[in-house]
Amino acid sequence: MATRKRVAVVGTGTVGSQAAWRLAARGAEVVGYDRFAPGHDRSAAGGETRVFRSVQTDDGRYVPLVRHADALWEQLQAETGRELRRLTGALVMGPADHPEMRTVRDVVAEHGLDHEVLDAEAVAKRFPQLRVDDGDLVVLDRHAGFVRPELTVQTAARRAEELGARIRRYTPVREVTPVAGGGVEIRTDTGTERFDAAVVTPGPWVGDLLPGLPWEVSVYRAISAWFLPHEDQSADAERPAFIRRGDVPFYGIPSPDGMTVKLGLSQAHHKPVDDPNRLNRTVAPEELETFTEIVRRHLPGLNPDPVRLSVFMEGYTDSTRPLVGHLPGCEDIVLLAGFSGQGFKLSPAMGDIAADLALQGRTAQPIDFITTNGRIAA
Ligand SMILES: Cc1cc2nc3c(=O)[nH]c(=O)nc-3n(C[C@H](O)[C@H](O)[C@H](O)COP(=O)(O)OP(=O)(O)OC[C@H]3O[C@@H](n4cnc5c(N)ncnc54)[C@H](O)[C@@H]3O)c2cc1C
Repeated sequence: MATRKRVAVVGTGTVGSQAAWRLAARGAEVVGYDRFAPGHDRSAAGGETRVFRSVQTDDGRYVPLVRHADALWEQLQAETGRELRRLTGALVMGPADHPEMRTVRDVVAEHGLDHEVLDAEAVAKRFPQLRVDDGDLVVLDRHAGFVRPELTVQTAARRAEELGARIRRYTPVREVTPVAGGGVEIRTDTGTERFDAAVVTPGPWVGDLLPGLPWEVSVYRAISAWFLPHEDQSADAERPAFIRRGDVPFYGIPSPDGMTVKLGLSQAHHKPVDDPNRLNRTVAPEELETFTEIVRRHLPGLNPDPVRLSVFMEGYTDSTRPLVGHLPGCEDIVLLAGFSGQGFKLSPAMGDIAADLALQGRTAQPIDFITTNGRIAA
């Protein structure tokens, strides 16, 4: 009988909690570590919702990975009985000649994705909460909506624990070291543990934990802002998520309780974070100006004064493709980081790929545009 592999998961946030679930489901002996506890709001995840959509606006090669994630979202919901995702649809909109809008139009057609193309008149009638510009292309991605970040991370971590994983909470990992002859050592403030392999998913702390990496992951601070509508929403109104490309890119998600709409901006509007241990979680009034402009221009039914603000941080690579694969010269350490604002929807697939790479050394998932033979290609 094959011996059971012992695998550490360093960082049980978005991707790490899913990796712990997938590894434990395949019979590995899993120990997860987190500097906080699953579901915390000090890193990339939090703020009630993240957009789930079938089409990335910049690259059609993600479609098969989203499909794999889609099946695992369903599986995790079925195994746990929790509503982690709600498919309300998502409107992708922007000037018809914008390169990302052209990509969206091509990708939905090429992959036969469930969608509708709408003109400004149809949007005004069906989605009066949104105002689009003349000449905009609007695509309704129907297999889309929102996922719940805190609930998802806690549910995946809890499912992993039910399957035998142990999670060491409030236990920052100080060092991940390959052992000569095979295996990995994980050092914390209380000691060192030995594993056959490690999945390293530290999100914005990747540079802190692995300072010698040959790839740059820049950490940015992202603000989420919640707005109240001027009038109560009709219970049967369609309330899809929405993403706009163009001069001021932004996204929005109606909140699950129907009371507010959350807005967020793109990377170009985020400030860099020098040290993830010192994230400035206070929002200055001038940081709200872009939100106010967006509400005035595109969401006239909302009061432009936000009722809630939260600050998160995310690691971005130059290519915006994540780092996924074995560390160079070290087959037993699998790194997944730098999700560049796109990682939540993909996280169950990424956790599964992490399990493939840690347990078998390779994956059948189509990640060649991200890795080369299981090695990071960024
Ligand atoms: C505001 C905002 C909005 C977003 N919107 C979307 C969206 O709509 N759709 C979408 O798909 N994606 C979205 N994203 C991106 C997505 O949320 C991220 O890509 C994803 O959460 C990153 O997951 P991660 O596992 O890499 O990092 P995290 O979820 O941050 O997990 C990293 C974990 O590692 C732990 N850790 C770090 N260092 C150590 C250490 N040394 N020892 C122990 N533990 C450690 C941390 O405590 C944390 O729990 C958004 C991101 C932000 C910030």
